[in-house]
Amino acid sequence: MARILDGASIAAAIKQEVAEEVRKLAARGVRPGLAAVLVGRVAASEIYVRSKVQACAELSLYSDLITPPGDVTTEAMLDLVAGLNARDDIDGILIQLPLPAHVDAKALLDAVDPAKDVDGFHPVNAGRLLAGRPALAPCTPAGVIEILRRSEIPIAGRHAVVVGRSDIVGKPVAILLLHENATVTICHSKTSDLPAITRQADILVAAIGRPGFITPDMVRPGATLIDVGINRLTTREEFDRFFKGDARREAAFAKRSSTIVGDIHPQAFEIAGAYTPVPGGVGLLTIAMLMANTVRAAKLRRGL
Ligand code: NDP
Repeated sequence: MARILDGASIAAAIKQEVAEEVRKLAARGVRPGLAAVLVGRVAASEIYVRSKVQACAELSLYSDLITPPGDVTTEAMLDLVAGLNARDDIDGILIQLPLPAHVDAKALLDAVDPAKDVDGFHPVNAGRLLAGRPALAPCTPAGVIEILRRSEIPIAGRHAVVVGRSDIVGKPVAILLLHENATVTICHSKTSDLPAITRQADILVAAIGRPGFITPDMVRPGATLIDVGINRLTTREEFDRFFKGDARREAAFAKRSSTIVGDIHPQAFEIAGAYTPVPGGVGLLTIAMLMANTVRAAKLRRGL
């Protein structure tokens, strides 16, 4: 029986540690603050940002939710970011992605003060991460490492295969695994004979954005499967492809007319040694790591 790596309990433990840090900082008169910038009205982004602001409240961090309209210009956004860079009550700046197509997302992310870049997307932080210097690491990749560490899954000397090479997930997670002394292979859409490579993985990280892409034949029995993917299924046909006969999922699907599946096919979990479920796995760590990064940024900025 595969072991479930429970994101909820790991995220709760991290949040508890963050709350303790916040208490210590409060005793020194410091309250870490996060600015969350949500442009326009994208339903999924609204849900994510709301959860982030709520997590700040739970852990007694200060938060400022800023909601420019969907037709905001890049220039206005650059001014906004400059203002946040200058504010002493703000330690972390989060610009919720995706941004509307007319906004120059790269220019904006580059404008964030690297010391306040709690998403770890700024090239300076990406460079520091690559060079193995203390950096604000992107939250989801950092969460993957926390899951492995706290679940006592050995990383050093293991073959970690990462499918996906995005700047926000695939690449940074591969670098972090390398720093943990894994032997790392990065795969992408141009990789030849992907299954032959994924089958070699002791630790397989899927960050692809395609529902159930990693099938059981692509997995070595006993491997640890880390599923970063979040894909919403809305049609009966899609649902049946993954969850036909699953009573619990049926009930959820009937209620919400949708359910979520990762990038790993649920049947592959049956032959794994351990795996992160979707939902309830990596996704929960992302917010916990954002809180941890905000507190870290607050301390670093003050030389604490
Ligand atoms: P991107 O679309 O930026 O990257 C996807 C990667 O998958 C690319 O590198 C692409 O390769 C690769 N890929 C696509 N098709 C194939 C294929 N057929 N074979 C092999 N590789 C392929 O996605 P993200 O990295 O932003 O996100 C990945 C997933 O993680 C998504 O489901 C997203 O929703 C989820 N996510 C979850 C988070 C969480 O909190 N849990 C946070 C962020 C993302 P190429 O580079 O060659 O195009």
